[in-house]
Amino acid sequence: MRGPLSLDRVGGFFVRATRQTESEMSKDWNKRTKLVHGGVRRSQYNEVSEAIFLTQGFVYDSAEQAEARFLKAGPDEFIYARYGNPTVAMFEDRIAALEGTEDAFATASGMAAVSGALTAMLRAGDHVVAARALFGSCLYVLEEVLTRYGVEVTLVDGTDLDQWRAAMRPDTKVAFFESISNPTLEVIDIAAVAEIAHAVGASVVVDNVFSTPVFSRALDLGADVVIYSATKHIDGQGRALGGVILGTRDYIRGVVEPYMKHTGGAMSPFTAWIMLKGLETIDLRVQAQADTALVLAEALADHPKLSRVIYPGHADHPQRALTLAQMDKGGTMIALELAGGQEAAFRFLNALEIIILSNNLGDAKSIITHPATTTHQRLPAAQKAHLGISPGLVRLSVGLEDRRDLLADLMQALEQA
Ligand SMILES: *Cc1c(COP(=O)(O)O)cnc(C)c1O
Repeated sequence: MRGPLSLDRVGGFFVRATRQTESEMSKDWNKRTKLVHGGVRRSQYNEVSEAIFLTQGFVYDSAEQAEARFLKAGPDEFIYARYGNPTVAMFEDRIAALEGTEDAFATASGMAAVSGALTAMLRAGDHVVAARALFGSCLYVLEEVLTRYGVEVTLVDGTDLDQWRAAMRPDTKVAFFESISNPTLEVIDIAAVAEIAHAVGASVVVDNVFSTPVFSRALDLGADVVIYSATKHIDGQGRALGGVILGTRDYIRGVVEPYMKHTGGAMSPFTAWIMLKGLETIDLRVQAQADTALVLAEALADHPKLSRVIYPGHADHPQRALTLAQMDKGGTMIALELAGGQEAAFRFLNALEIIILSNNLGDAKSIITHPATTTHQRLPAAQKAHLGISPGLVRLSVGLEDRRDLLADLMQALEQA
């Protein structure tokens, strides 16, 4: 019997890697094994590290084969890299195995995934209910793009289930939210929102970046579609932009793929290779980052210069129980509010020596951001206040440095705040 990673010899000329079906890629494998071996396709050279198939096209053996492939490409038959590519397919299979979905479509960025997933599903006359506390670009897609094409959007306070209930209508097609909001780390009850949405026949689309694929139980909790910006924890080393849409095979191949392959949001093979390598270590990295985040949140909790320390895994977080029910740990992000407002926040940021000022997250390097003046600068003041994005708030993405050094850096910078 063919093992999960074995190969088919084709015509004695080259060896074509075969796509791993679920039955081949053992479902019994545990997470870390799937992250290292999942989705592997090997060329005739039997390379150890996944090959980068840096090609936009594929040669057909005959005109008849080309015709047949355009009619219906098999799961391991490729036509053009905008439609699919072996390196990209390896990444898609590996992340789908991790998330536990039937299939995945890799995209050029996280926003290509969000806009692609939503646009592929929706048409004029449809209604979307979304949580208000969203990444700025997600808000733009909902409020400025989809509405232009006749989709109606209702924004609700994502933590208030009554608002979700009240907003649902018979024509509601999608409920959309970030499972943990940026930057104030509010946790949305995925199971409860899914029940409300499913009652009117709507699909649940979750932007799951802050939960990370390591801690995600979104599918078990009732999400229909899960989206990641791979730019964040999946790469984890700040190199490349990417994204991925995960769901059932019917949804991914029947709804997402036709839309994405014709509109051009595909992931490049080189990016897919970076993301494959990122997945090999993601569990180790994210577990360590989350452990450090908890230690830091606990150490900072009563600091006199801080008016708030927000960490979903901390005992003080109002949604700690929900967080732990939805994830194993509290994630890799912390929000801190300087009691002295923006001036104190800026002094604090400028005094940091290890933690860098930037706006990515999920990186090996700890990164800190002042949302009110950067990522959320364009929000009206009232909206910032409503979302808790105060002048003193900073968002910390905890990296892989030694936690004693991170704590010392935070403490010395707080002294100067
Ligand atoms: C970063 C991010 C995105 C967008 O991802 P890109 O890869 O930057 O396009 C979407 N949603 C959330 C929650 C994010 O953090």
